[in-house]
Amino acid sequence: MQKQKLRDRIYSALREGDHRLTPQREAVVEVLLDNADAHLSAENIFMQTKHNYPDIGLATVYRTLELLENLGLVHRFDYGDGQSRYEVSLTAEGHYHHHLICVNCGEIGEFKDDLLDEIEEKIAADTGFVVTDHCLRLFGLCQKCQGEQDKPAEPIDK
Ligand SMILES: [Zn+2]
Ligand SMILES: [Zn+2]
Ligand SMILES: [Zn+2]
Repeated sequence: MQKQKLRDRIYSALREGDHRLTPQREAVVEVLLDNADAHLSAENIFMQTKHNYPDIGLATVYRTLELLENLGLVHRFDYGDGQSRYEVSLTAEGHYHHHLICVNCGEIGEFKDDLLDEIEEKIAADTGFVVTDHCLRLFGLCQKCQGEQDKPAEPIDK
C-alpha cells in the first residue's frame, strides 16, 4: 500500500518535471521501493537492478539516482566510509527520519520520530526561516556493540 503510494508520487513527479519514465528508471525505482529501509549504495542498487534489467549500466543508475535526488524523491547521505547511501523519501513534505550510525560495526539504524518540531518552530519565530527538511546523523554504539564493550577487560599482568 505504502509502496504503491510512493511509486505514484515518484511517477507523477517525473511526469510533472517532463522526465520520461524509461524502463531503466522504472527498474531503479522498484529496487529503491523494495529496499526502503536498507540504505543501499549505488553499487548495491546497480547489482539488484541488474536482476530485473540485465542491460542497465552503472552510469544510468547514477544518473537516475541523481535525478531522483534533485527532485527530492530520494535522499542521499554519507556516513563516513566514502560510499553514498540512497533511500526513498517517505514523505512528500520532507522532515526526514534520523540515522543512528554505529561507529563500531557501521550498522545504520533509524529513528522515525522527528523530535525537532520545537526547534523548527523556534527557528521560524526567531529568524523567519522555515525548515522544510533536515539530515541528522547520530554516531554511537548499537546495542550489539555495547554488549561487546561490556565484556570485562583482559586483566593486565604486572
Ligand atoms: Zn522536522
Ligand atoms: Zn554496532
Ligand atoms: Zn534511513
